Amino acid sequence: MIRCPACDGSAVVEGPPSRVTGRVVSRCRTCHAQFLTHPKITEVEARSSDEISPEDYETWVNVKREGVGEDAWREATGWIKEAIGETRAERPRLYDVGAGDGGYLRLARDEYGFDVTGNEIIEGAITLARQQYGIELELGDLAQLGHHDAFDAVTLWCVLAHVPQGDDLLRNVHAMLRPGGVVFLQTPHRTSVDAIGNRLKGASRGRWSTVPDRRLAGQGHHRILHTAASITAQLERLGFVDVKVEPRLRYSLTSRAYLMSLNPPGWLLSPSAWVLDKAISSRIAPRIVIDVRARKA
Ligand SMILES: [Zn+2]
Repeated sequence: MIRCPACDGSAVVEGPPSRVTGRVVSRCRTCHAQFLTHPKITEVEARSSDEISPEDYETWVNVKREGVGEDAWREATGWIKEAIGETRAERPRLYDVGAGDGGYLRLARDEYGFDVTGNEIIEGAITLARQQYGIELELGDLAQLGHHDAFDAVTLWCVLAHVPQGDDLLRNVHAMLRPGGVVFLQTPHRTSVDAIGNRLKGASRGRWSTVPDRRLAGQGHHRILHTAASITAQLERLGFVDVKVEPRLRYSLTSRAYLMSLNPPGWLLSPSAWVLDKAISSRIAPRIVIDVRARKA
């Protein structure tokens, strides 16, 4: 029996495999998370990190930084500061999981006065963060680094949806926060488009699978789309309190590039791009990510 990776419930409906990619997406009827149940484990993430140069890494960082820019970073960091409040007078300590080239940490340090560090699993990233910003990152997985009650804030920018075992990651985050410390994470949101896409895929027995195939690709890409209910359930189950969730309208790509990535027929592209641009400017477009904040009790 499949259990929901978010709420741990058993009311999981497994969809048909995509006829294009073979991927199977399941959904939870309790918390409405949508997640990959096949393929199960990522191989790409296990690839040797020695083979990746800083230049390769820079490209990877740019791909990974979906929907995130300095505005999003500032919004989140202001939110984190407010949540930490006055409990810690000087230089609160912030740790960024999967810190990339350290761009976010530079902002948190220089504009918000945090004492910053983070980790990366790729050596090239660590070199880049040191050279560009003078930030020292740790090499390796959180589980091996063994931090306890050490940080006022931990941030995860689009990390949770990439890992096969979200619970393990969040348990490590919980352990490394000091009591009262705050976690901030951004993760892909299950929107109405994803719900409809998954329904179409089910109804066509895997034939119409473009949207789910694009949004849940596994292998270094996303494995789960959360709802406010699902991320709240997961965080509370693992001992976090005061969970706050805000869906966000953040498109990193132009509308045209985004639609191209969904691979629509050519004749549809221009009118759709126009409609999507209008929708974004009028703020009715689907909110494809959620910002989430919670506290260690
Ligand atoms: Zn669930």
